[in-house]
Amino acid sequence: MAPDFPRRLVSGIKVIIVGAGFAGIAAAIECHRKGHTPLVLEKASAIEEITRYGDIISFDPNGAHNFERWPGVIEAMQKVARQTNWLDLYSWKGEFVTRQSFAEEKTWGPRINGHRGELYSIIHKHAVERGVEIRWGQRVTDYFEDEDKAGVVVDGEKMFADVVIAAEGVRSRGRKIVLGFDDKPKSSGYAVYRSWFSGDAIKDNDMLKHLVDGDSHLGFIGPDLHFLVSSLKGGKEFNWVFTHVDDGNIEEDWQFPGRIEDCLKYVEGWAPIVQEIVRSTPKDARLIDYKLVFRDPLPTFISPKSRIALIGDAAHPFLPTSIQGASQSIEDGVVLAACLEMAGKENATLAIKAYEEIRYERVHKAQATGVKTREKWHKANWDEIKRTPEAIHLTREAWLLNFDAEKDCHERYDEVARGLQAGRARL
Ligand SMILES: Cc1cc2nc3c(=O)[nH]c(=O)nc-3n(C[C@H](O)[C@H](O)[C@H](O)COP(=O)(O)OP(=O)(O)OC[C@H]3O[C@@H](n4cnc5c(N)ncnc54)[C@H](O)[C@@H]3O)c2cc1C
Repeated sequence: MAPDFPRRLVSGIKVIIVGAGFAGIAAAIECHRKGHTPLVLEKASAIEEITRYGDIISFDPNGAHNFERWPGVIEAMQKVARQTNWLDLYSWKGEFVTRQSFAEEKTWGPRINGHRGELYSIIHKHAVERGVEIRWGQRVTDYFEDEDKAGVVVDGEKMFADVVIAAEGVRSRGRKIVLGFDDKPKSSGYAVYRSWFSGDAIKDNDMLKHLVDGDSHLGFIGPDLHFLVSSLKGGKEFNWVFTHVDDGNIEEDWQFPGRIEDCLKYVEGWAPIVQEIVRSTPKDARLIDYKLVFRDPLPTFISPKSRIALIGDAAHPFLPTSIQGASQSIEDGVVLAACLEMAGKENATLAIKAYEEIRYERVHKAQATGVKTREKWHKANWDEIKRTPEAIHLTREAWLLNFDAEKDCHERYDEVARGLQAGRARL
């Protein structure tokens, strides 16, 4: 029998959520926890289609902290997550520069870095045990809304709810109804090669074996490129990713096969260890070339009648250097569910407006950190770094990371709602 997880009073609010990625599934769990009735529609035919892809994904304390409210989830994640609380940084020539410790952030909440599919499976299991309804193989083709309700179209059939959450990732169709036009992605000018394979492939390699002697986390920083390496589960699993200037086409897809020969060209002249990592990637390893797209910040996250809200990558794609994409998508779901809880069914549209008011500025400030870190690394001033190695550390700011989205929403909701009712909206 499924465990009986704590739930707040039943609100009677029916919520359709489109997309069962991290944003959608987190929103569903939070809606269920707060007494609403979520229904998730996902176009993938089964969970395996979601867990099959992806490699390392990171939840910083502001994201991971929310998992602590879902019984058993954080404990299960910690078992499969990387057990490091530092990042060792090297120059592209292989000289050690500095160790950045994250130990002091412990009081801000847990940090979870692990395999996307594994972490997703843990959240999905929790959602199912709670009784969240997820329907697979449901491709939403259209959205609609009027004063009283909103809905979606699947296989030509209309489905209705009080509100609809569009959590369909970067290629969201929901954006069109919210914006009134199709906004086209732009090239960010960068792409990422990402690889994941068994630590066994390098455990006998004299130059690399120390990297899988326990968990590790290190980065090599050079002109217009940064190369990150980590191992998990005591070195049993290993991955590397590098962001580089992109000379290819823009495609919003995670599944371009990457080629070792192409990767090696980018790291020509780099430290032998970096080249050896790439060269040692097994032929059957997962290696992809992912083009990073950029979109201008959306003018709004919500539809004209305030019954449809964009969340996660559908609302705001993040650069990997922000390390915030997944965490912000969790915060979105937490805040939206909390706004609906505070507003009640009769005021569902006020809740959707409040969600946008509460999220808009924070999300865009967080997005900007990705560009800042990339510039800091790719255009590093090595004379300055020689004098102050910490200048190359990731910026870790309390406003962003030491943050409880649910608490903040509960504290601010009344004031934000009063402002909206008095016509003092941000937009
Ligand atoms: C295959 C894949 C692999 C990824 N791998 C990594 C990784 O290794 N590391 C990393 O940091 N980030 C990765 N990401 C991105 C990361 O998961 C997201 O940036 C972040 O978690 C925010 O998630 P999201 O739920 O907003 O979007 P997504 O994770 O993109 O989820 C959107 C979901 O909506 C579904 N969907 C889309 N259109 C429809 C429709 N019309 N009807 C119904 N369902 C629909 C999609 O199938 C998908 O499951 C990956 C994303 C994808 C899709």
